[in-house]
Amino acid sequence: MGEQDVSEAVRSLPKAELHVHIEGTLEPGLALDLAKRNGVSLPWATIDELRRQYEFGDLQSFLDLYYQLMGTLASADDFHDLMLAYLAHAAADGVRHAEIFFDPQVHIRNGLDIDAVMDGLLSGLAEGRKRFGITGGLILSIVRDLPIESADSVLDAVQNRAGDLLGIGLDSAEVGYPPSLFVHVYDRAREMGLHCVAHAGEEGSSDYVAQALDLLHAERIDHGVHAIDDPALVARIARSGIALTACPLSNRRLQVVKDLHDLPLQEFLRAGVPVTVNSDDPAYFGGYIADNYAALEKIGFSLEQLGAIALNSIHASFISPDEMRDLEAQYASWKARYLN
Ligand SMILES: [Zn+2]
Repeated sequence: MGEQDVSEAVRSLPKAELHVHIEGTLEPGLALDLAKRNGVSLPWATIDELRRQYEFGDLQSFLDLYYQLMGTLASADDFHDLMLAYLAHAAADGVRHAEIFFDPQVHIRNGLDIDAVMDGLLSGLAEGRKRFGITGGLILSIVRDLPIESADSVLDAVQNRAGDLLGIGLDSAEVGYPPSLFVHVYDRAREMGLHCVAHAGEEGSSDYVAQALDLLHAERIDHGVHAIDDPALVARIARSGIALTACPLSNRRLQVVKDLHDLPLQEFLRAGVPVTVNSDDPAYFGGYIADNYAALEKIGFSLEQLGAIALNSIHASFISPDEMRDLEAQYASWKARYLN
């Protein structure tokens, strides 16, 4: 198969995106438009000038820009536009279903109303479903390095809107904020009927992953890279069928690994862990989901392996059995076309 065909095969592979932060899909052009729309002043006048700021070298410089640009989002319409822009990228990359994080604590801190944020994101999802045929849902993500009381008040605020949410997650700076701090938040989310996932083992140790499983009862682990340091834990993850949502380009950009070869995805797969591939904050980390798949193809993953990873993503999603059968059928026709 030629290079063109491989790239087409990777792009058309039916996949689910399970680890993407909607705020991390904010492209420079849209950020400047929103700043203008909302009278927010930014120190950069042109897309090129702003795009150069995306060349940060470490986590903190990323987070500084990330939080500053989040300040351009002000209304339900802004969140609607942000969601649709992401879904257009996702559709072009073969995404059929997306479970999308958002960070309500940050928007509330910026003075926004959580209902407006959710209404905008949900109407964007509904429009995207009509336009692109992508199904999806929202995962309310707790920013672990903000005061824990603000996590409690976010749950108060969505108490009556649990039906508009798929799950709860935990993100941002990991070290020093172990899962054990969030047990009561997750207990409460579970009582509200939400699925539980958590970022763990990105910068934190394998113990953070074990805590996310034992204490938060996480159904998926976001990143999970450092689980590899504990073979018994890897075996346990494989046995329980807990999926890891890997984000290769993010891990490289934020120096979780120096090189993609150092990412232990092949080891996880050999151990039977259902690995999935995702984009995390694609506007900031140099690529949407198909670029992440393509980056793995470049370092030696076969099309069969990438297909298996996409199938993992379908199985690790929170879709209904009917929707799952439909996606499995789409995967089977992709396989018949490209692998047989
Ligand atoms: Zn993430």
